[in-house]
Amino acid sequence: MSIHHILQEVFGYGAFRGPQQAIIEHVVAGGDALVLMPTGGGKSLCYQIPAIAREQAGQGITVVISPLIALMHDQVGALHEAGVSAEFLNSTLSGEQASQVERRLLRGDITLLYAAPERVTNPRFLAQLDSLHERGKLSLFAIDEAHCVSQWGHDFRPEYRALSVLHERYASVPRIALTATADALTRADIVERLQLQDARLFISSFDRPNISYTIVEKTQATQQLLRFISGEHMGEAGIVYCQSRKRVEDIANLLCDEGVAALPYHAGLDAKVRQANQDQFLRSEGIVMVATIAFGMGIDKPDVRFVAHLDMPKNIEGYYQETGRAGRDGQSAQAWMCYGLQDVVNQRRMIDESPAGEEFKAGLRGKLDALLGLAEATDCRRVRLLAYFDEESKPCGNCDNCLQPPAVWDGTDAARKLLSTIYRVQQMGGSYGAVHIMDILRGKSTEKVVQRGHERLSTFGIGADLSEVQLRGVLRQLIAIGAVAVDAEAFNTLKLTEGSRAVLKGEVPVRLRASLSNPAERKAKRSSTAHASSASKAPIALDAPAQSRYTALKAWRGEVAKEHNLPAYVIFHDATLAAIAERAPNSLGDLQGISGIGAKKLEAYGDEVLRVMVSV
Ligand code: ADP
Ligand code: ZN
Repeated sequence: MSIHHILQEVFGYGAFRGPQQAIIEHVVAGGDALVLMPTGGGKSLCYQIPAIAREQAGQGITVVISPLIALMHDQVGALHEAGVSAEFLNSTLSGEQASQVERRLLRGDITLLYAAPERVTNPRFLAQLDSLHERGKLSLFAIDEAHCVSQWGHDFRPEYRALSVLHERYASVPRIALTATADALTRADIVERLQLQDARLFISSFDRPNISYTIVEKTQATQQLLRFISGEHMGEAGIVYCQSRKRVEDIANLLCDEGVAALPYHAGLDAKVRQANQDQFLRSEGIVMVATIAFGMGIDKPDVRFVAHLDMPKNIEGYYQETGRAGRDGQSAQAWMCYGLQDVVNQRRMIDESPAGEEFKAGLRGKLDALLGLAEATDCRRVRLLAYFDEESKPCGNCDNCLQPPAVWDGTDAARKLLSTIYRVQQMGGSYGAVHIMDILRGKSTEKVVQRGHERLSTFGIGADLSEVQLRGVLRQLIAIGAVAVDAEAFNTLKLTEGSRAVLKGEVPVRLRASLSNPAERKAKRSSTAHASSASKAPIALDAPAQSRYTALKAWRGEVAKEHNLPAYVIFHDATLAAIAERAPNSLGDLQGISGIGAKKLEAYGDEVLRVMVSV
């Protein structure tokens, strides 16, 4: 079968997306490839179709290396639904089940085999690959989540390093490595570590136009989150990222108390509970997962309507990767982050305190600064975000700054006042935290100010016209640009740095957002733009009879999914159900050509779908 034929017959899709065709042709022909494509871009087909085409040409099996043991079952299940012979080998299988897969592997009965990196590099498994290779039955290696090989990536897995053995041992077997995240540094690292110097590089646009970006200043984080969810996303699936396990638990409880169906996920939970919560998130509708970054890689749930960050991530790659889990189905979705001074301080401290070498720390600081730049930006967020991935773009019209341009004020003078105050207290032989410095500047005669004689400083009260919110903004900016250092070892006291001088001299302007935008106004604006569909609403507009067909189809799909122990979207996507509902088919012929219905699914479910149609 030609690759177009496979796309249509097996997956039920009419056309390739973006660079899929070029990638697939290159790999089918035996070339190596490094694929950088955003989440939801359609990476899986880039190795699944070559696997099928090459197997049909007698070239044998494709081994897919993925770190996501917890998701292999569903990935393989989705292939079975499409009628593709696929299996996985990982620690969740019993010894007997594993040997059965191995026997089929050696017989050449499998088109795609999913395995974790530690399995692939173990000598016993390599011996089996040797045997396949000798018989010319080792077709392709697909290395998914390839950024895991890099210490610069945010999911570094040391086991990935050992994958260089594949190239050394099976030089003639093509390899395709894929990732949804890689800035220039990480990309170079992937090429070097996996010896992909000769691979063709395919970079897609990283833009996710259906995701709307919003970054708000932290005032009362949990209340802000609640307002965000209850105001715009009640009943919808979403992910809330928090920094610590304890915070995950607290926030999940709080959301539940407020009537939001929320579940916790973090590395400290029992593995069984974690898996159960993940399954529930994938299999039920409208669940909010509150998680540390331990959650999310490879989660291919298509209808996640929002990703919220209650604490700031470490860098733009992490932020982009995490927010990218929203809106894989192409419907509108929101990325929302709330961040404040404490986030900046915490992240800086984590870097300072890490045992890594200076050069490495400098790399981390650079990445953090880029994220701070994004958070503090007064212009289009998307332009900034894409620029980080070396992509030029125009203001998007679908981020907070585009929808409601913030007023900007010149904070240079305020910055100089702040720095002079820090300088003066340093001169008096002390060092103090942000609160005290701001008290002096705003002329507050607190007990501490009076005791230390700081009322007599020439800067006492010279910032009385500035609000605390304004001063915190200035301070955040100064820390962000490295003009103020926070000494983590001395109670987070503020210190001048080399970079302070240029600001003091007025050589570096400090521009800031004027104030918090009015949330009510923002909401009114957003709801007038394309708004995310609620979980039970179809992804396209349907008339009343079609809507009831859609509802009936969803109920039917739920039953099938339960029976097969798979998430509902693996059976059919919402968009496919909506297209069926719209068409109101009377025969199998009417079902043909609907996106997402391949030959196997038509055969397996066609009659049942028609029965559902009659019953409505
Ligand atoms: P990624 O791994 O890049 O995040 P997936 O491979 O999971 O993305 O694909 C995202 C979604 O897009 C999946 O539901 C997939 O079935 C769908 N998809 C991929 N390619 C196409 C295509 N050519 N036409 C229609 N849908 C597609
Ligand atoms: Zn924008």
